[in-house]
Amino acid sequence: MKAMVLREYDRPLVYEDVPEPSPKRNEIVVKVHACGMCFTDVKIQTGQLSGFITLPHIPGHEIAGTVVEAGEDVKGVKVGDRGICHFLLGCRNCDLCRRGSENLCLGLSRIGFEHPGGYAEYVAMPEYSFCPFEGEETSFEKMAILPDAVATPYHALNRLAALKPGETVLVVGVGGLGIHAVQIAALMGATVLAADLKKDALETAKAYGADHLVDAGSGDPLGAVRSFTGGTGVDVVLEGVGKASTMAWTLPSLKKGGRLIVMGYDPVNPVPVNLMNIHNNEWSIQGAKVSSKQELVEVVRLVEKKKIRPVVSVRFGLKDANDALNGVRSQKVMGRTVLVMDR
Ligand SMILES: [Zn+2]
Ligand SMILES: [Zn+2]
Repeated sequence: MKAMVLREYDRPLVYEDVPEPSPKRNEIVVKVHACGMCFTDVKIQTGQLSGFITLPHIPGHEIAGTVVEAGEDVKGVKVGDRGICHFLLGCRNCDLCRRGSENLCLGLSRIGFEHPGGYAEYVAMPEYSFCPFEGEETSFEKMAILPDAVATPYHALNRLAALKPGETVLVVGVGGLGIHAVQIAALMGATVLAADLKKDALETAKAYGADHLVDAGSGDPLGAVRSFTGGTGVDVVLEGVGKASTMAWTLPSLKKGGRLIVMGYDPVNPVPVNLMNIHNNEWSIQGAKVSSKQELVEVVRLVEKKKIRPVVSVRFGLKDANDALNGVRSQKVMGRTVLVMDR
């Protein structure tokens, strides 16, 4: 089969023939129709996540496709089923998996990181990781981005922030995840502030339900947040950037007792945090790492009901994945980039 293979860090992926996967007893093989592209894939390509990767490697963790082969122990999935992949492979037997936090499994491994991913014609995965979806008109390219770009902000806002109707939330960074965070926060009945450096990102946020727009490149974004909230700050900050330059004003954007959820991060430059302010204001800081499988299934249902609209803005063929990665790296792309196999 054809695949885009990372052979050396910081070098373009190579379009080449590799052996097709064959399923183990509890696995299925999926023909990939679409695979979302994440900024994490840029971090993988440049070697910033080399601790998790063995070269040569096939990236891609937002996979949608059709089942073409099933191992002998597979019971609940059959050839021809259409679906997406919950790419975090929990052991299903540690404390964290039993509590429904398989994203934190003590023995976690991931498709597209420790295992070959979806920048390929076929990919193998455990039967348990497959999440079928309904509707003949549902497009693979839109469903492909659910496992990370939609399920991660859903996990962050619904489970971790426990956002309540009438609360205020500041979404920092209206990219592939942020544009879905805006929709989910609005769906949950919150007042949504969206912050970004780019004017077109802010306009898109408005079209998808943001109530107030914060120009992060202006002189005083913190002042803007305070003026939109009557001087008190927001109940929840969803940090999708996670750099020192954003955290310097997003953390102080919290109301007393507010909670900041870290959805984006810079793997190289740690962010200094003023603990006295956290103490005095009883602010909470919580990390958010993708989602449980159950949450991904909930997101599938919400998209099937058209309560959340997946935002795919750029499409590339598999062999053009390097151009796609360059676009994601430049951070000029609004919404999500997707590789579509039959292009
Ligand atoms: Zn991702
Ligand atoms: Zn586990």
